[in-house]
Amino acid sequence: MKHLKCLDNFINSKSNYYNEEQMQLISISMLKERGVEIDDIAFLSYYAQCKYLPNLTLDECKKAVLEILKKRETFHAILFAINVDICAEKHMFDEPLNAIILSDVGLFSIDETLALSICGDYGSIGKTNFGNLDINKPAKVYQLQNNKEHCHCFLDDIISAIAANSAIKIAQLHANNSINE
Ligand code: MG
Repeated sequence: MKHLKCLDNFINSKSNYYNEEQMQLISISMLKERGVEIDDIAFLSYYAQCKYLPNLTLDECKKAVLEILKKRETFHAILFAINVDICAEKHMFDEPLNAIILSDVGLFSIDETLALSICGDYGSIGKTNFGNLDINKPAKVYQLQNNKEHCHCFLDDIISAIAANSAIKIAQLHANNSINE
């Protein structure tokens, strides 16, 4: 039985590796089915970075998010996070784990640990950016965490990590560009 409609007809590759475009497309479809659009993550990235870069645009953030979605570690984290959330919704784990995930217990911390594992790719400030989003819970992070219909214990942290990585990727790009000014 498949959990997500977007993966109904999915055929695995022999190697279980996928190219950048495939990883990005699968991630976008899975996120969408769980209620997260690329624009939602782009806004979180903008939120994390706009006070440091006054000319930052949402479009720039969106491009950075799409690049992050081509990374294998990000792809694997999205696959894992969404599948765990759905399995908890369907009560497929033994107790007490299922109830801990379902209620997103504050001190569970495995969800944050998974997210932090993908946040250092463009510099350790990515982890600081993640902490900011995790504590302040803006926009989609808040909506996911307070969604009573679905479990998003892992997904809220993964989208924060993707946004945090996008923000630091943009910061690194602007730093490089400023050398040539
Ligand atoms: Mg969480």
